[in-house]
Amino acid sequence: MPVMDENLITVFDEVVARNPGETEFHQATREVLESIGPVVAKHPEYTSAEVVRRLCEPERQIIFRVPWTDDAGRVQLNRGFRVEFNSALGPYKGGLRFHPSVYLGIVKFLGFEQIFKNSLTGLPIGGAKGGSDFDPKGKSEAEVMRFCQSFMTELYRYLGEHTDVPAGDIGVGGREIGYLFGHYKRITNRYESGTLTGKGLTWGGSQVRTEATGYGTVFFVEEMLATSRDTFEGKRVVVSGSGNVAIYAIEKVHQLGGVVVACSDSNGYVLDEAGIDLDLLKEIKDQQRGRVSDYATRRGGPVRHIKDGSIWDVPCEIALPCATQNELNGNDARRLIANGCKIVAEGANMPSTPEAIKILHEAGVKFAPGKAANAGGVATSALEMQQNASRDSWSFEHTEERLAGIMRSIHDRCLETADDYGQPGDYVTGANIAGFTKVADAMLAFGLI
Ligand code: NDP
Repeated sequence: MPVMDENLITVFDEVVARNPGETEFHQATREVLESIGPVVAKHPEYTSAEVVRRLCEPERQIIFRVPWTDDAGRVQLNRGFRVEFNSALGPYKGGLRFHPSVYLGIVKFLGFEQIFKNSLTGLPIGGAKGGSDFDPKGKSEAEVMRFCQSFMTELYRYLGEHTDVPAGDIGVGGREIGYLFGHYKRITNRYESGTLTGKGLTWGGSQVRTEATGYGTVFFVEEMLATSRDTFEGKRVVVSGSGNVAIYAIEKVHQLGGVVVACSDSNGYVLDEAGIDLDLLKEIKDQQRGRVSDYATRRGGPVRHIKDGSIWDVPCEIALPCATQNELNGNDARRLIANGCKIVAEGANMPSTPEAIKILHEAGVKFAPGKAANAGGVATSALEMQQNASRDSWSFEHTEERLAGIMRSIHDRCLETADDYGQPGDYVTGANIAGFTKVADAMLAFGLI
C-alpha cells in the first residue's frame, strides 16, 4: 500500500487541524492523499497552485436549523447540512442522508468522496453531499412530510439545475424526494425537474435510477471477474444492508447467476442458504418498511436471523458491503479471507476500514472502493439530468445499457491508471488518481478561485 508523500503530509495535518473531531473526513482525505503522491510529484504545477490544499477545503458549507412539529403538536428540532465541496467539473451533485448519526464530519467525508466518484463517471458533475440528523424510522408519513418541507424551506435557495442537484442516500428514498421536490416546486413556482434526481417515473425521474447503485456495483464486479475470465455463475455472495443499494445488488447478482445467501440491517443479518427471496424482501422493506428479522419469520424453514455477530462470518466468494461506513473492519477482513473470499466491492460509501483494506490487499483479494464501484447511482442521476434538460425519457433497456457502459469504462480507467502508476490491479490507487487528475486540471485552468 502507498505511503503518503512528504508534501501531502503537511496538507493532511492541516486538514486534521482545521476540521477537529471529523474522523470520517480525515479517513477519506487520508486515503486519497496516500494515493496521489506520484501524480503530484509529476506535476509541480499542482503544488505551486496549492490544488490539493484547495481541494480539501469545501467551496461552501451550509448548516441550518430545521424545526418541525410532530403528530402530537410538539416542536422538534434537527440540523440540516449541505456541503458544496467542488464544482470544477459541473454543478454540485450528491445525495442527502437522513440518519441520527449525521454530523458535519460525515457530510464532509461523503462530499469529498463524491468529487472523485463524479469525476470518474466522465459526466459533467461536481461533488456535494447533505442531510440531517433526522431519523425517519418510526415517524409517521405526515411527520416525514413536514420535516422534508421544513428542510427544503431553507435549502431551496442554494439549489438549481445549474447550481446544486441533490438526490437520495441513507434514509432518503423516493418518498422523501417526492416531498422535497414538491415543496421546491411550490416555493419557487418553477417546474425545474433537473434540480433533484431520484424522482418518480411519472414526474421527471429516470428509468434505472432506483436500481442504479446496486446494479452498477454488480456490473463493476462482473468486469473484475472478467479480468480472470470468470463470471457470477454459481458464485456465493454476501450483501450487507437491505436498503436501496443492497436490494438491487441482490437482484442483479441473481440475474447473473450468482446466489446471495445473506443480507442485514442494523439489528442483525439473515442467512438463507437457498438464496434471498427478493420478492419477499422487497415486500417487507418497500411496502411495510419492515426488518430483515421479519423476512426470517415470514420465510420460515431453516432461514435464520442472527442478532449478534457479523454478516462477514458467512463464507462467500464475493462480499458486497452495501450498508454504511466502517461496517467491515480488520477482523471481518481476516474472516472473509479465511473463508475463501476473492472479491470485495463497496456498494456503500467507505464501508471498509483502512485496516480492512490493507489486509485484503496484502492477501491478494481484489478490492473495489466505493467511489468506483458505487458510482452507478450518481451516473444515472446525471443521465436523469440529461433527460430532464432535453425533456426526454429513455427506455429501461437503453438506460441500463448506458449504466453498464459507464461502469465498464470506470473499471477500465481504474485498472489502466493503476498500471500507469506501477500499481497493477490496485483499484484504490487507480480510482483516486483518475478521479483526482481531471478535477485538478480543471481547477488549474480556472485560476485561483
Ligand atoms: P438505505 O437507507 O436504503 O439502506 C441502508 C441500509 O443499511 C439499511 O438496510 C440499514 O439498516 C443498513 N444499515 C445502516 N447502518 C447499518 C449498520 N450499522 N449495520 C448494518 N446495516 C446497517 O440506504 P442506501 O441503500 O441508499 O445506502 C447504503 C449505502 O450506499 C450508504 O453508504 C450510501 O451512502 C451508499 N450509496 C447510496 C447510493 C444511492 O443511490 N442510494 C449511491 C452511492 C452510495 P437499518 O434499516 O437498520 O438502518
